Amino acid sequence: MKKTISCLRCGKREGFRKSHEKIKYKDDVLYLCVDCAQIAYKMKDAVIDMDSTLADELARDFVSLPEKPSKVLLSWFDEYKTRIGYPPPTNPKEAP
Ligand SMILES: [Zn+2]
Repeated sequence: MKKTISCLRCGKREGFRKSHEKIKYKDDVLYLCVDCAQIAYKMKDAVIDMDSTLADELARDFVSLPEKPSKVLLSWFDEYKTRIGYPPPTNPKEAP
């Protein structure tokens, strides 16, 4: 029997054409739909660009959901943030 794949963040089921991003986390496999994965990717880019304002915004976006985010999602997200180096170091030149 084929397991229905749904997004861990928004619960959207995997569509016919667009496949969810497969994420390995500990002994588990998690899935994020393209839209939700995009937020995570943009956040990574913001960290690389040292754009802490954007990174903060995306980090908030990721966990602001109509339903309380699941524990797995939050623990994965915590791990993800550490891995991408969030929060980005603030540029001392730009500090007031
Ligand atoms: Zn989603």
